[in-house]
Amino acid sequence: MEQELLRLKQEAEETLAQVAGSDQLEAFRVKYLGRKGGLLTGVLRQLGKVPAEERPRLGQLANDVKQGIEALFEEKKDLFAARSATGMEGFDYSLPGRYLPFGKLHPVTQVMEEICSIFEGLGFAVAEGPDVETDYYNFEALNIPKHHPARDMHDTFYVTESILLRTHTSPMQARIMERQDPPLRYIAPGKVYRCDSDITHTPMFHQVEGFLVDRQVSFADLKGVLTSFTHKMFERELALRFRPSFFPFTEPSAEVDIACVICGGGGCRVCKRTGWLEILGSGLIDPEVLKMVGYDPDIYSGFAFGLGVERIAMLKYGIDDIRLYYENDLRFLSQF
Ligand SMILES: [Zn+2]
Repeated sequence: MEQELLRLKQEAEETLAQVAGSDQLEAFRVKYLGRKGGLLTGVLRQLGKVPAEERPRLGQLANDVKQGIEALFEEKKDLFAARSATGMEGFDYSLPGRYLPFGKLHPVTQVMEEICSIFEGLGFAVAEGPDVETDYYNFEALNIPKHHPARDMHDTFYVTESILLRTHTSPMQARIMERQDPPLRYIAPGKVYRCDSDITHTPMFHQVEGFLVDRQVSFADLKGVLTSFTHKMFERELALRFRPSFFPFTEPSAEVDIACVICGGGGCRVCKRTGWLEILGSGLIDPEVLKMVGYDPDIYSGFAFGLGVERIAMLKYGIDDIRLYYENDLRFLSQF
């Protein structure tokens, strides 16, 4: 009888493990635990025929087996009840899960956020403005009157004669300066649009414009801020070079180069053998621009700079074709 009990215990456990639904579970209960004809009940009935001295030990064993199986049965019952409450009855929890691809930020967005956070660390606030801009803020307020030759450089998408897609994020400079008095420290990140497309240009790209206005701001302040920025952005102390240039809204103006991130200044294909890479345009804000928003240029001065986010992202990651960022090829994008 002892052997019979142990065999039954094992069989019941194995059967219960295979049970996958309420119907099977009920069949299991009837087969093993049923009051009439249940296998376990049958064994217990025979206890009366066992010799008296064996009876306490076997009685105890039989009870343990019965309680053990009942406990397992209840456990399974609760599980099915919980599943049916969630509408998941019959669901096999041992199946492997479905692969859910998870998204991440586009590399250009990542670089833009990084640029913003570096400037925030330098005390700049972030301001965003409209993509559809007026001719006044995009050009006139930045000292680019109608028929000024500098407009030709912008390849503008016009909506009407006076409304356009902004060609840079600099309009925020005028918008903020009109409303507030110095001191000001702002960066304006965002999308800009130009009718241009080739290996280094796309019709839409991202720019971060920054400016600072206060008393006694000098070119040295501009150099200090841009040097701190490039060192943080490229995670090493690259040399900087300021080349005299022209922008209608800054005077003096300079284009800023960094020592080539690929060859370190020795000369390679990326830097066209010069050892330098152009990364941004900058300068001291033209007194005419300050006058236009009602600041006295004898009291206040400031600097401004604008950098292309895609350009920085290309240099940082060693990408030589800007269009890769916009072809939506996940094999490319998922590497960042
Ligand atoms: Zn190089």
